[in-house]
Parts: sequence; C-alpha cells; structure tokens
Amino acid sequence: MTERVTIIGSGPAGWTAAIYAARANLGPVVYEGAFNEDNRQKGTLPLGQLALTTEVENFPGFPAGDMTGYLDSSIDDGKRRYMAPHEKQGVSGPELMELMRQQAINFGAKVITDDIVELKLSERPFRVRSLSGTEFNTHAVIIATGARANYLGLASEDRFKNMGVSACAVCDGALPRFRNSPLVVVGGGDSAMEEATFLAKYASAVYIVHRRDEFRASKIMADRALNNEKIHVKWNSVIDEVLGDDENGVTGVRIRNVDDESQVEELGASGYFAAIGHTPNTDFLGNQLATSESGYVTWTQPPRTNTSVEGVFAAGDVADDRYKQAITAAGTGCAAALDAERWLADQGLE
Ligand SMILES: Cc1cc2nc3c(=O)[nH]c(=O)nc-3n(C[C@H](O)[C@H](O)[C@H](O)COP(=O)(O)OP(=O)(O)OC[C@H]3O[C@@H](n4cnc5c(N)ncnc54)[C@H](O)[C@@H]3O)c2cc1C
Repeated sequence: MTERVTIIGSGPAGWTAAIYAARANLGPVVYEGAFNEDNRQKGTLPLGQLALTTEVENFPGFPAGDMTGYLDSSIDDGKRRYMAPHEKQGVSGPELMELMRQQAINFGAKVITDDIVELKLSERPFRVRSLSGTEFNTHAVIIATGARANYLGLASEDRFKNMGVSACAVCDGALPRFRNSPLVVVGGGDSAMEEATFLAKYASAVYIVHRRDEFRASKIMADRALNNEKIHVKWNSVIDEVLGDDENGVTGVRIRNVDDESQVEELGASGYFAAIGHTPNTDFLGNQLATSESGYVTWTQPPRTNTSVEGVFAAGDVADDRYKQAITAAGTGCAAALDAERWLADQGLE
C-alpha cells in the first residue's frame, strides 16, 4: 500500500500538519517517534521539545487559568492520567502537545509510535522504513522532526532542567524565577548574545560565560551585549558545575578559568541558559536533502515549505534556525500540509 502523505515528527509542526492534512481528507499517517532510552537521552521522545517543559505562556489561546475541566473533557482518559496534575496556570507543554495530538486523531490522522530510520528519496513513491522494521511507500512526506538543544552534558545541568536550567530565553526568560536576579548564559555565538540581551530585560545581571577571549558572534550582536550595562562577560572560562538544591533549583554555577585552572569562582544565579546551539534531527535523511551549513533542511522556495526533493516538505525547527518557537513550528506545519495537498493534487494523487 502507498500512503498519500506521511508526517514524521510529533511536535507542534507535525500535529498541525496532521490536523490540516486530515481535514483535507488526505488520510495522513504520523510517525510520532518511539519511546526508548535512546530518544530519552537525546531529548527526542514523542511529543517533541514542549513535552520537556512546564508552563507555556506564549502560545496564543491559552491564558493563565484553570484548564482542568477542558483538559478532562478533551483528552483521552487513559492519557490524562499520565499527565502531571495541573497547577491551574494556563497550559503546560505536555498538555498542549497532547491536545494537538488529540485534535489530529479526532480528524482521522493515523498515529504510529515508532521512529523513521530510513527514507529513500531517489525515486517516487518514496520508500520508508521504521525502527521496528515496518516498510511502506508514500507519495509525499512532511519532515517535522524538530531539533534538540545542545547542552554541555554536565550531570548537574540534567538535574536542574525545569528548575532553573533552560535552553530558551525567549520561552522561559519571563518566568518569575528568572526575574530580578542574576542569570548565567553559556556560549559565545549570536544566539548567546541574543539570549543574554533578552534576559537582561528581566534579570538583575547576566553573566556570559565563554571559553575563549573573544566571541564568535557577529560584531553587531556582540557589541549590543557588551554595551549592555547589566551584562558581564567571564572570558576564558568554562562551567564546572551548575549549583543548586532540590528545593530552590539552580542557585549558581562554579566556573573555572581555562588559562589558570586554579582560578575557580562561584557565581550566584537563579538561572542557567545553555546557548550553544541546536542539532536538527535529520540523521535518518542521510545527505538526500539540501541543508544549511549548520544542517537545517533548506526551503528551496520560501515561504513555501518545499525542499530540494519534489514531494518532500519540511516544517518546524528542523528547517528553522531562527525563530524556534511552538507557534512558528505550528505555522509552518500548516503551510507544509497545504503545500503537500496542492502538490498531490497537481500530481493527480489527491
Ligand atoms: C525546554 C524548552 C522549553 C520551550 N518552551 C517554549 C515555550 O514556552 N514557547 C514556545 O513557543 N517554544 C518553546 N520551546 C521551543 C519549542 O518547543 C519548539 O520550537 C517546538 O517544539 C518545535 O516544534 P517542532 O514541531 O518543529 O519539533 P519538536 O518539538 O522538536 O518535535 C519533533 C519530534 O519529532 C519526533 N521525531 C524526531 N525524529 C523522528 C524520527 N526519525 N521519526 C519519528 N519521529 C521523530 C521526536 O519525538 C521529536 O521530539 C521550548 C523548547 C524547549 C527545549
């Protein structure tokens, strides 16, 4: 059997694409990823990056308030039991993702809990293989596999995720725990400058910890950070440990000077932001699609979501190294479904 459209990925891009494709009667199949240790370690379990966070305050339509009744009535009872009790403050990441998934299922999307490990794009229909060994053909593919934030890999980073450790200032910077206290940003590229400058609006001070004596960031971005009186740079320094405890989460970091190992300093901070880039989830693609230098899938006719292979569309963070937000991922997920629908119609495959 040949699927009309296969959606790979289960973040806001994948579910939005599924909702639109299902409503267009394309009978989409969504591969949402597998629940396994490998995906847990990488941070790529089903439901995507938002499933790794607590509150989502900036997705339109979900103001703070008691969502309990709505969630109880809209999400499958079985699923609801696995979600953390709601704190009555708007929507949490896992809840928002379950709502999107349920909405896609309600319109008839078929969801398979498995990873796609191989996609052969050399001839149409495309050949797809999953981790559990299922093989099938598909006319169109929407790649919505997202990206994962890079961390330094310290055990202490892992321990305090959602308790002061973050990789997204725009997402988390305005949360109460990060306001009016010192924060730490690690990194030296454009995104570190952007995160530090953004956080300086809320924090009492921002320390950028950077392992070299100059930034990799563009001059304009670096100058903006360096000229901000709330931002201080710890040059030639690395993070040894994120400090904290179970009650307060992050309370600071211990940094070490790379030129003089004996120079160790503790910085008090209520938050630690890793700004050392993201890795798009594209391993299963081999080198079959054009990508940017940093490995993000390229849209060949922006703002359309077409990729370098006809019939393959990309949406969300896997093709976006700039905005990286749930709402932008959902927006391009919608666009990808519409692009796929039109392409299938042009091929006489609707
Ligand atoms: C901690 C944290 C907090 C955040 N908070 C916010 C916030 O408050 N507001 C906001 O707008 N944004 C937030 N973001 C960013 C937001 O989560 C992302 O921009 C958004 O989730 C990207 O959506 P996506 O659909 O592109 O993919 P992702 O959410 O990255 O999901 C893709 C998923 O697809 C699946 N997948 C990957 N490869 C395969 C494969 N080969 N086969 C099958 N499935 C696969 C995996 O389960 C993967 O996780 C946050 C991010 C993080 C990490």
